Amino acid sequence: MKNFEFASPRAESEAVGLLNDHGGRTAVLAGGTDLIGLLQADLAAPERVVDIRNVKSMTGIREESDGIWVGALTTLDEVLAHPLLKPYLSLGQVADAHHAIQIQSSGTLGGDLCHMPNCWYYRNGYGLLAMKDGESLVETGENRYHAILGNRGPAKFVNASRFAPALIAWGAKVRIIGPGPEESEVVPLEYFYISPKSANQGNTILKPGQLISHIWLPAPKPTMVSAAYEVLQLEGLDWPLAAASVMLDVEAGIVRSARVVLGHVAPVPWVSQEAASMLRGQSITPELAQAAGTAAVARATPLSNNEYKVQIARTAVKRAILKAVDQLEGGL
Ligand SMILES: Cc1cc2nc3c(=O)[nH]c(=O)nc-3n(C[C@H](O)[C@H](O)[C@H](O)COP(=O)(O)OP(=O)(O)OC[C@H]3O[C@@H](n4cnc5c(N)ncnc54)[C@H](O)[C@@H]3O)c2cc1C
Repeated sequence: MKNFEFASPRAESEAVGLLNDHGGRTAVLAGGTDLIGLLQADLAAPERVVDIRNVKSMTGIREESDGIWVGALTTLDEVLAHPLLKPYLSLGQVADAHHAIQIQSSGTLGGDLCHMPNCWYYRNGYGLLAMKDGESLVETGENRYHAILGNRGPAKFVNASRFAPALIAWGAKVRIIGPGPEESEVVPLEYFYISPKSANQGNTILKPGQLISHIWLPAPKPTMVSAAYEVLQLEGLDWPLAAASVMLDVEAGIVRSARVVLGHVAPVPWVSQEAASMLRGQSITPELAQAAGTAAVARATPLSNNEYKVQIARTAVKRAILKAVDQLEGGL
């Protein structure tokens, strides 16, 4: 591990200022469950680590007229327990599926959203594009956990965030602060992620000196139901092979609006307009849920060892839809 300065700001503007020194060669530390490993492996080698855990304004969950503001430092346990988040059932389902009390008590929502990919080539120092001598190691090598959608470009890792699909399905936005001390913007989470085209690009729109301070969720309507379905190999701590989250607005048994988002299948959380438009204006049946799953993976381009993920992703979409409609009074 390379030596670094350590800073512990108490205010957002102070955190942004500290992140902007050293030409932005700095890193944000939240729960540290992933960043510490990246530092130990020299995959992150910042001049300064900025520990944001004492920035009070980035903690807590509050209700405003247009929705809920969730501090980026909210832990997974808080996601599970907070009464204001109860209507967002899919979020609780994702938090619950972690099956690891250490991660649930110290991992944060901001840290999950900015979690670097688990691609083993990236984790072994070959960068996000996993290139060696101008060749993609993923294409010619071991790619069973890699992308099946959005993988025609140079990026073939899968986005690691477990909460992003559920949050995007709910129409969440993120408040980004920096690089100026008082600068901030609110961006739909759907547009936060990037599939990098070159080695010097990251996997989010965050520029050096910027960080997420809050996540915004629209106020839920009583007609809205949501669910997440993650396919995990282990009963304990594990990363999904594929996942799907849905949010349906159902009135008198008819889907008025739908959002379907897949996780762990592409370099970005994968919004499936095809699946959503198939559901709109319809009454959900198991056959329709199955058809929406098929539509969601219709454009899949699996790599040499991951065709199996297509079937898993298809089923995850179907089961997430059926799990969501289970919450409707009277079921289907
Ligand atoms: C041994 C181990 C195994 C794990 N295995 C799994 C697993 O199998 N499945 C699983 O789902 N999770 C796993 N995790 C949990 C994972 O680390 C979580 O996703 C956690 O929520 C990350 O949150 P954190 O606050 O600890 O992030 P940190 O480690 O503090 O940060 C993660 C990344 O996000 C950046 N960051 C953090 N907060 C912000 C912010 N507000 N704005 C901008 N950037 C930010 C950091 O710079 C860093 O790059 C594991 C953790 C450990 C220690």
